[in-house]
Amino acid sequence: MLENVRVVLVGTSHSGNIGSAARAMKTMGISDLCLVAPEAEIDGKSVALSAGASDVLGGTTIVSELSEAVADCQLVIGASARSRTLDWPMVDGREAGVKLAAEAQQGKVAIVFGRESSGLNNPELQQCHYHVCVPANPEYSSLNLAMAVQLLCYEVRMAFLDQQNTHPEAAPEDYPHADDLERFYQHFEQSIADSGFIIKPHPGKVMEKVRRMFNRIRMEKQELNVMRGILTSFDKHISKPEK
Ligand code: SAH
Repeated sequence: MLENVRVVLVGTSHSGNIGSAARAMKTMGISDLCLVAPEAEIDGKSVALSAGASDVLGGTTIVSELSEAVADCQLVIGASARSRTLDWPMVDGREAGVKLAAEAQQGKVAIVFGRESSGLNNPELQQCHYHVCVPANPEYSSLNLAMAVQLLCYEVRMAFLDQQNTHPEAAPEDYPHADDLERFYQHFEQSIADSGFIIKPHPGKVMEKVRRMFNRIRMEKQELNVMRGILTSFDKHISKPEK
């Protein structure tokens, strides 16, 4: 099950942090590392700081967008040093660990970490089902990237061990992958633009609210199919604006 847990680092600028993150992951039995548009390359410093976790570095995938990194994931949790960047469902590290471990029994899940300088931006945060914040010292709450990776991977491991030893939970619901959800949001946006509810150049915050609502609901695959069907049936009655 731990092989279903992916660690995603967005825009990392220090190569040493990539190595330290790999080491943190391997100690917790997690090996799927994905870098999104890294600003640093995996270099000698990364290998040195990975201290024997160079296999994790060797297996790293590199992509240019967060959406590619999480396309096949059914649960995406974004780590943020600030507790409320957006008004979005928040969990603490322990809850994040339990959710990730439970859903990893069934499919791929991801924990996403931001840039050393500026964290995750709003569009990236909106691609996450939950945000996780380690409730650190409010006056000094920003952890080193690899240390944040260590803490959250530890929570996943503890939840995984707990599940194995005590009460193996029933398999959770059948959730869609992030790329299916993304296509649904695009469809939704197109339909409400065609209907005149939003005007494309000035969409306002409607889609942010729609995404937040559907993230909160966590539609199952069947429910997503129903929603797509409903949109398609509406589309047939909408007179599309002239392009
Ligand atoms: N200066 C950035 C923090 C960057 S630290 C900011 O203000 O957002 C790099 C990354 O480590 C963060 O994007 C986040 O993913 C993770 N991180 C650091 N401290 C954290 C904390 N207290 N809780 C959760 N994640 C944290």
